[in-house]
Amino acid sequence: MMLQVKQLKVKGFEVVVVGRDPSSNLHAIIAVHSTKLGPSLGGIRMWPYRNEKEALQDVLRLATAMTKKAAISGLQMGGGKAVIIGDPGKDKTRSLLHSMGELIDSLQGEYIAAKDSGILPKDLDIVSEKTGHVTGTTAKQGGSGDPSLSTAKGILVGMQAACKFVFGTKNLKGRVVAIQGVGHVGWNLGNLLSQQGAKLLVADLQPLRVKRAQRSWNASIVPLAKIHQVPADIFAPCALGGILNASTIPHLRAKIVAGGANNQFLDEEQDPYRMMKRNILHVPDYVLNAGGLIHLFVREILHQRRLVPWILNIERTVHQVLSASFQKQLPPLVVANRMALQKLELS
Ligand code: NAD
Repeated sequence: MMLQVKQLKVKGFEVVVVGRDPSSNLHAIIAVHSTKLGPSLGGIRMWPYRNEKEALQDVLRLATAMTKKAAISGLQMGGGKAVIIGDPGKDKTRSLLHSMGELIDSLQGEYIAAKDSGILPKDLDIVSEKTGHVTGTTAKQGGSGDPSLSTAKGILVGMQAACKFVFGTKNLKGRVVAIQGVGHVGWNLGNLLSQQGAKLLVADLQPLRVKRAQRSWNASIVPLAKIHQVPADIFAPCALGGILNASTIPHLRAKIVAGGANNQFLDEEQDPYRMMKRNILHVPDYVLNAGGLIHLFVREILHQRRLVPWILNIERTVHQVLSASFQKQLPPLVVANRMALQKLELS
């Protein structure tokens, strides 16, 4: 076996491993943040990180968010995540995915994999040839497939709760929503919003995806650098993290920010307060985008079919977070973090 596994000691994390396999070009990191509530479940992200430090920073933030996501959603799951350093368009080979499967298997079920950006259910099928600790494989391989539609459904009901809070009505008809990234989550969300009569503005790195959105929803295309600044009722970040920061927040013109991207704040200490000062309501991403995790938990861990009541819970949780935030005059993220921590401590 060519796979080399190195353990890193990172404060606050149960396990962090770096896996390298020169024969398949795998360079990946798995971070298990917490298994207090159950085994850690989280997606594998494949992205052309510039170096291992950048990848490590991303995986640690993503894994921490998974712990909070599972806890606040009432799931008996822990938090973990994996990243592969590489371009999914060029570097994703069968042998690299096999090495990734071996790396996951080395953790003996403490980390259960799923998809994230750059990884598809059919890639997980290949990973599952080397380990049983994978969810979200295709139906052919016995899995429940891509959970992105469930993620989008959860975002929709959470957005409705936020609209009720800000505009006094859940109705999305005629609301202007700017979507950054129309990939798996953004595309499903756009479909649902379009069915509700929302007016959509979109941006994506991939021109074919914005063209498809324009054709299907009569969406307006916005330049990449402008999507967060357009006048809109809701800005929905559905690409990668860090979009809300000291440079972008002053230019936001939406009343609500609610989207699927993980870790939307670059600086989780300062940025939530910057949003509050601008009187823009931010729905914490890990509360809003829990539908995918819920899908995998219900279908593949509990082996149940009925997802709807679980997804509708997101609306209730968003309402609780926003109400407490208003009462305590604290940013919604600070309130959600306290609620998640309380659930972890009480378990
Ligand atoms: P994806 O890779 O399918 O889609 C992301 C899209 O964003 C792509 O079309 C990409 O071209 C575009 N993009 C990247 N950078 C951009 C930029 N700067 N400006 C505009 N567009 C940009 O990924 P996905 O599965 O849709 O996930 C999107 C986000 O949601 C990620 O942060 C992911 O972690 C999070 N998330 C996904 C799920 C899920 O079920 N898929 C669940 C929870 C959270």
